[in-house]
Amino acid sequence: MKGFRSRRWLVTLVALLALGAAAHRAARAPQSGTTPMSAADSLRARDYVRTLADPKWEGRGIGTAGIDSAANWIAARMKSAGLVPAGESLGWFEPFEVTTGVVAQAPCAVEADGRRFDLGAELQPLGFSTNGTARARLVFAGYGITAPGYDYDDYAGLDADDAIVLVLTQEPGEMDSTSRFDGSINTPFADLRTKAINAREHGALGLLVVNGPRYHAGEPLRPPASDGGGYMTSGLLAAQVDEDAANLLLASAHVTLADAQMAIDHGEHPHSFAIPDSARVTVNLKRTRATTRNVIGLIPGRDTTRTLVMGAHYDHLGYGGPSSLAPDSHEPHVGADDNASGVTAMLLAAERMTARVRHGWKPAHTLEFVAFTGEEIGLVGSSHFTDDSPAPPTRLRPFETIEAMLNMDMVGRLRKNQLQVMGVGTAAEFDTLVSMTNRDAALADFEIHRSQDGYGPSDHSSFYKRNVPVLMLFTGSHVDYHKPSDTWDKIYAAGLVRVSHFAEALVESLDARPKPTFTRAKSDVSAGRIAGGGGYGAYLGTIPDYMKTEGGVLLSGVRSGSPADQAGLKGGDVIVRFDGIRVDNIYDYTFALRSRKPGQQVRITVQRGGAEVDLVATLGRRP
Ligand SMILES: [Zn+2]
Ligand SMILES: [Zn+2]
Repeated sequence: MKGFRSRRWLVTLVALLALGAAAHRAARAPQSGTTPMSAADSLRARDYVRTLADPKWEGRGIGTAGIDSAANWIAARMKSAGLVPAGESLGWFEPFEVTTGVVAQAPCAVEADGRRFDLGAELQPLGFSTNGTARARLVFAGYGITAPGYDYDDYAGLDADDAIVLVLTQEPGEMDSTSRFDGSINTPFADLRTKAINAREHGALGLLVVNGPRYHAGEPLRPPASDGGGYMTSGLLAAQVDEDAANLLLASAHVTLADAQMAIDHGEHPHSFAIPDSARVTVNLKRTRATTRNVIGLIPGRDTTRTLVMGAHYDHLGYGGPSSLAPDSHEPHVGADDNASGVTAMLLAAERMTARVRHGWKPAHTLEFVAFTGEEIGLVGSSHFTDDSPAPPTRLRPFETIEAMLNMDMVGRLRKNQLQVMGVGTAAEFDTLVSMTNRDAALADFEIHRSQDGYGPSDHSSFYKRNVPVLMLFTGSHVDYHKPSDTWDKIYAAGLVRVSHFAEALVESLDARPKPTFTRAKSDVSAGRIAGGGGYGAYLGTIPDYMKTEGGVLLSGVRSGSPADQAGLKGGDVIVRFDGIRVDNIYDYTFALRSRKPGQQVRITVQRGGAEVDLVATLGRRP
C-alpha cells in the first residue's frame, strides 16, 4: 500500500502531466465531442485498474470466484455508463463451458506380480492419459527418448508394440555438462508428453514414468497437471509410479532402477530391454469444467445492419500455471497491464460515448463493447463470440453485421509516447485512418509503430480469421509480463487515458466511414505461438484454431507464401496425420513438427469437406 505522502505526490504529478498534455492540445484545433484529459480521468483509470487487479479477485483465473466478481463489476460499470445489455437472453453475459483441467479418481492402479499400487504416494496418472485399463507385457525403454538430432534413440532395436513401456523422467546426463544432451537444462525431449507421444508412435498401449534415483530419489509424485491444455489426451494410458513400484516391475529382469539408470548414464548409450513379465494399468481421470462469461454491452446505432466492436479481455492467469513466467509462484497473477488496462480503456471510452448519446449524438453503427474471458487459455471467449454465439433473437447482433473490431491488450505502460498499432494491413483504409486519427484526435500524437498482420496473440485474431478488419492497440511488453508483479501501481494512468481517447477516436472515424475493405495482411513473423510450430525446428506456417482440442488440429488460416500455403493447406482444414504421426491435438502437432527438419518433404493428411486429402509440403526454417 502506498502511504498518504506518496499518494499525494502522485496525484500532483498526474495533474501536472495532464495539464501539460492539455496545453499541448489546446494549441491545436479543438475537437468535437472530446474534452481534454483532466486529472480526474487519470484517477478514475487508476481506480478501475486497481479494482480489477486486486489480489482478492484471484488473478481473474478461469474457474475462480474472483473472475466472476470481476465480470459482475464490469457489467455494473457498463450499466451505470448507460450501455444496453447485449449478452445472451439480453442480459450482460454470454456464458459458456470450458474444460479447466482433470482430477484423478479411484480406481487408478498398476498391478504386477501379485502386487497392486494405488492412487496416492505410489501412483499418479498423468493429466494427458486416456481413461481405461490395459494388460500387456512390459518393456524398459530408458529415458523414452528418440532424438535423431542428438544421435540417441531409446527405442532402437526395442519392440514396444502393444506393450506397457517403463521409462525414466528427465534425460541422460542430467547435471552433466558433457552430456550429449544439454546437460544442465533439459531439452524438449525430457517433456513427459513428448515421451508419451513417442511411446504411442512406437506402438505402446501405456507409459509408466519414474524418477531416476540418481538425482530425484524420494521426490513426491505430483497430481495430474490441471491447467492449461494439460488435459488434451496423448492417446495412451500414462501414469507416474514411485521407485518401489518400478523396482517391482523390473524384478523379473533382475535389474534395479538404479542399475538401469547407471548403465545408460555411464555407458552414454541407450540400455533398453524387454521385461519377462506383464502388468495391468488402470487410469480414471475426470475432466473439470467451469462456466465462464463474456460481458457485453452496446450503444444502439441508426443503422441496425452495421456494427463496430471494441474489445478487451478481462481474464488473466489466476494463480499462475503454464503461461506464467514466474512458474514457481502461486501468488495471484493480478494482470494490471494484462489486461485490466485494456478493460479500463474500453470502459472509459464507453462512458464518454454514452455521455455524448445523452446529449443527442447517435452513431451510425451499433457500437458493441465486449470484455472477453478466456483469452489467456487460448482466445476461447473471443472464439466463442465469433464462432458459437447464439444467433438472434438470443443475441442482439448477427456476426455478419460486424464491420471492424478494435482490440486493446496491455495499454497501461505507455513509454516514450510509443504506441503499437497492429492489424493496419487488414483493411485498405486503415493506414490512412490511423495516421489521420493520430494527427487530429484530442490527446493523440503518439509515436506509432505499425504492424500489418491481423493474426497476433490476442482476441482480434478470432475476428480476423472470420475476415473482419481488426486493429489492436498495445503499449509494449515489460519485465512484469505474466508475473505476479504486473501490479496496478506500475500503470501509467495518464497514458492509459490517452490510449482510451485514441481508441474512441478510431471508432468514431470508422463510424463516419463506409464499411472498410477487408484485406489479407502481410504476415508478421514475430507473432509468436499463434504462428504454429513456434520456436521449434521446422516451420510450416499454419495458424491453429485453439478452440478445437481433439480430433485433429483445425487451421484458422495459413501464412501467405509459407510452406503450408505452397502445399495447398487452407483455413478450415483439420490436420489428422503428419508424415505418419497421428495428430489428435496441438501437442501431437508440435511433436510432429519438432521431429522433422527444415528442408524435409512431409505428407500431411487433412480432413476437408468430409473427405481426407493428402498434401505434400517442404518444411522451411522459421523466417
Ligand atoms: Zn493479454
Ligand atoms: Zn496475457
